[in-house]
Amino acid sequence: MTAFDVIVIGAGPAGAAAAFTAARGGLSVALIDKARFPREKLCGGGLTGRSYSYFAQIYGTPVPAALIETKTAVTFHAFGQELARINDMPAMHMAMRRSFDDDMYRRAVAGGAVDFTGSRIAALDVDQPCVTLGDGTRLTARVLIGADGVNSQVARALFGASHDRTRVGFGLEVEAPAAPDNLTAPLRIDFGAAEWGYGWHFPKSGSSTIGIGGVLSRNPDLKTAMSAYLAQLGHDPAMPCKGHFLPFGDFRRRAGRRAVLLAGDAAGLVDPITGEGIAYAMKSGQLAAQAAIEALAAGQADRALHLYQQKLRPIHKALRQARRLRQLIFAPVFQASFVRAFRGSGTLRHLYLRLLAGEIEYDQVARATLRRLPRVLGQVVARRLSPLLRRERPEPRNGTRDRPH
Ligand SMILES: Cc1cc2nc3c(=O)[nH]c(=O)nc-3n(C[C@H](O)[C@H](O)[C@H](O)COP(=O)(O)OP(=O)(O)OC[C@H]3O[C@@H](n4cnc5c(N)ncnc54)[C@H](O)[C@@H]3O)c2cc1C
Repeated sequence: MTAFDVIVIGAGPAGAAAAFTAARGGLSVALIDKARFPREKLCGGGLTGRSYSYFAQIYGTPVPAALIETKTAVTFHAFGQELARINDMPAMHMAMRRSFDDDMYRRAVAGGAVDFTGSRIAALDVDQPCVTLGDGTRLTARVLIGADGVNSQVARALFGASHDRTRVGFGLEVEAPAAPDNLTAPLRIDFGAAEWGYGWHFPKSGSSTIGIGGVLSRNPDLKTAMSAYLAQLGHDPAMPCKGHFLPFGDFRRRAGRRAVLLAGDAAGLVDPITGEGIAYAMKSGQLAAQAAIEALAAGQADRALHLYQQKLRPIHKALRQARRLRQLIFAPVFQASFVRAFRGSGTLRHLYLRLLAGEIEYDQVARATLRRLPRVLGQVVARRLSPLLRRERPEPRNGTRDRPH
């Protein structure tokens, strides 16, 4: 049996950031993943300005240029029509997750984490905490960080389920062959390609990443919507695609229990409008590790969750705001008005892009959007969004999730 200060399960963006931060903070760390790296991860690989700056904050260096292609042009479409083309948006970086995640996993191991990737978990005891690997090795820790993605085994062990199927999102994606003009082609976002979601086309030098994603319960036939989207972009509609759950606005109010913390998708930390999850995965991994460092320094491992919840507050606030605002963008009753406002207002479009870049927060965008809706509709929406426009409600004390909205 080997004893560590911290065990991190999952070596994606959340787990790698957690393991790196904890190891650099002087803790002994075991990093477990069922996959060997480099490994594939279904994802658009879009790194917003927020992701880019979190990476630099965590690792003390920018994302290596060899891992990204940078775009500054984007086109927005709705129901087949171009709404706008912007040639000077804040930089958006495109990565392939295989190499991006491999880079972060290597940083964690170089930073001092002991490498248990490529290991199956045979048994998990979240009360000790203790992990038994497939080869019989037993690892114990004072703090356990579950960064094992949307189907989290750690969340299942804590709460009985990794996510709520009635609220989770789902994404379908293909890597289509690269077009000759991919290097200069703009990113493309399509409102309406999926219900309560959108479609994307990210042209990269090696391939074109094309996908659609939305709230699963609102998209009973996402495959047909994906075929239609591929056809609209001039690709074979029967092209085989892959799918993955996306915790799109389904975050856990209490991200763990006592000395067991959940980070990234395992805690549901994906933006419910943009589907962006890499930024909050990295950040929450870092915050979980910082909470572990502080709790262990005080000799109170069981206080780790309390400290982590405090650190997560700004992320939870942003996710709650986004969840309210998404009604305005995606609800069928409002969508036509939103699309008209978006087409008609350059200011509004730039605000959404600055939001993606991490320069502003959702409440500013909500106000600007409301100002551009027809008056009567604006009043209805304002009533629905009033908590977002006034101030945040305090967190309830129990461990339940937000109620469906
Ligand atoms: C179709 C699609 C497109 C997306 N596009 C974007 C995008 O363009 N930009 C963006 O920011 N976000 C995007 N996302 C979201 C993003 O992929 C996730 O939010 C992000 O990967 C979360 O990181 P994570 O570290 O929490 O989890 P993951 O990246 O899922 O990593 C979890 C790790 O845990 C390991 N693991 C899982 N179970 C176990 C187990 N039982 N034992 C051991 N190891 C285990 C896995 O092997 C994996 O390495 C997209 C998601 C989807 C589905």
